[in-house]
Amino acid sequence: ALLITKRCINCDMCEPECPNQAIAMGAEIYEINPDLCTECIGHYDEPTCMKVCPIDNTIIHDPAHKESNEQLWDKFVLLHHSD
Ligand code: SF4
Ligand code: SF4
Repeated sequence: ALLITKRCINCDMCEPECPNQAIAMGAEIYEINPDLCTECIGHYDEPTCMKVCPIDNTIIHDPAHKESNEQLWDKFVLLHHSD
């Protein structure tokens, strides 16, 4: 999963772009729910939130939620199996 750092300026560019509805406004800044973030696997070639974020290095790989491509694919299938 990815992580939004304190560099976030709450511009709301990323939230509507997430294919998994993993992004929401938190107490102070936008936050990513690691259970819902597939790093965009299954939807896009690269994380779309990183692409649209106007502030460099605001969205990073979450060191607390490192996942292999296989794990991310499994999450994608679980999240979207009923689509
Ligand atoms: Fe959503 Fe993709 Fe960003 Fe994860 S990487 S929060 S799935 S837009
Ligand atoms: Fe924060 Fe970047 Fe999302 Fe804007 S696009 S709300 S700066 S993480």
